[in-house]
Amino acid sequence: MEIKFAGAAGTVTGSKHIITLWDNKRVMLDCGMYQGLGKDTFKLNNEDFADPNEIDAIILSHAHIDHSGLIPKFVKDGYEGDIYCTEATYALCEIMLRDSAYIQEADVRYSNKRHGRDGDQAYQPLYVASDAERALQQFVVIPENEKTKVLDGIEITFIPNGHILGSAAVFLNIDELSVQHTLLYTADIGRYKTSLIKDPEPVPQADYVICESTYGDRLHDYAVDAEQMVLNSILHTIKEKKGKLIIPAFSVGRTQELVFALNKLDLHGLLPDIKIFVDSPLATDATNITKKFAHLLNKEVQRFCKSRNDPFGFQKLHYVKNQEESKRINASEQPCIIISASGMADAGRVKHHIYHAIEKTKNTLLFVGYAEPNSLAGRLQNGDQKVTIFGDQMQVNAETKYIKSLSAHGDYKEMIRYLSSMNPGRIKKLFLVHGEESVRQTFKEKLKGAGHHSIHTPAKNETFKT
Ligand SMILES: [Zn+2]
Repeated sequence: MEIKFAGAAGTVTGSKHIITLWDNKRVMLDCGMYQGLGKDTFKLNNEDFADPNEIDAIILSHAHIDHSGLIPKFVKDGYEGDIYCTEATYALCEIMLRDSAYIQEADVRYSNKRHGRDGDQAYQPLYVASDAERALQQFVVIPENEKTKVLDGIEITFIPNGHILGSAAVFLNIDELSVQHTLLYTADIGRYKTSLIKDPEPVPQADYVICESTYGDRLHDYAVDAEQMVLNSILHTIKEKKGKLIIPAFSVGRTQELVFALNKLDLHGLLPDIKIFVDSPLATDATNITKKFAHLLNKEVQRFCKSRNDPFGFQKLHYVKNQEESKRINASEQPCIIISASGMADAGRVKHHIYHAIEKTKNTLLFVGYAEPNSLAGRLQNGDQKVTIFGDQMQVNAETKYIKSLSAHGDYKEMIRYLSSMNPGRIKKLFLVHGEESVRQTFKEKLKGAGHHSIHTPAKNETFKT
């Protein structure tokens, strides 16, 4: 068996790992897009990382675009095989891959217009809506915790890992005639006792482990403190400064978590009398899918559903329906809360909200999730005082705040806890991916302290042979 680390090796986005068997049959774990890497992003996403005719199956851990986003491109380039995932992941991919195609097309249209390119000179989108539709036809849904044969010699089991709705680690039983291997791909490891999703499930012993490392150098605050911090930001911005509170948030997961937290704060009478807007068509769709898969949510949300029906709907909350309404909110000076995508603020309606709000001290930009350091959200989180948005240089006068504990990724203690259902002494090799380089190195040391050995931090396109 050979493992090739074709993406997310030294970066947090662009996940794709290719397993090749003795007979040259190949599966690819995830087919993710790079995000938030500035000018390099488009180039990285256009790189050929594998021959689509040489991959026999794709196993998709979850719907986030940095894990699923290049599937339509791979299909456009000729991939005709199956794409395996859980039912909720498929439901989310239906909306997310269509949305991603829409963003690719819109971005290229904008760039061509801005740089006066047309005809043969025009930039081309990575893929278009019809590619996403075709890709969706190739999805095969399989149940969680059921061993399923995907190729001769490879059986997989999806084990829910508490990251987002439908997300799962992938456990592979690999049979190479005389040799049997087991491999665990953790994908993105969720957290224990989150406000929405059930805890990660324990994983069986594996010979080889490909483990994420996004927050391998960090401990999160408690989630309860995060709710209090959100409330403090609301009261400070709305009541004292009479400004807008803008929260860039991923449409899937983070938005629903925030809405549920605000719903509970409102039930306790703690919210001022203002409007809260969810301004992202994708987030609205994702919220409906989350309700449909309520059985995947934790006990607290399920209890809430039984007693009060809708965890994601209450009187102050308004889901913005169209662009015109979004523009009206941009133009309004009324204090309000706006939750909008994308989380890294490089695209989507939140970029417009930030553009209109960033130069006024009365407003607050509240960040609640990971952002690549080069993305707009990343630069603002890092304290940049000047940023360029839509080609205009803007002075950052609005307050910027960052709550780290709302992450959908476990911190290093949670990741070590996740791996603790295995005996570290029996893991032959532990590969760290999906983390910035310095973070991976720190996590490696933490893992050594927890009894892990033979830890490797592969470079991009590095291969490992058993
Ligand atoms: Zn993810």
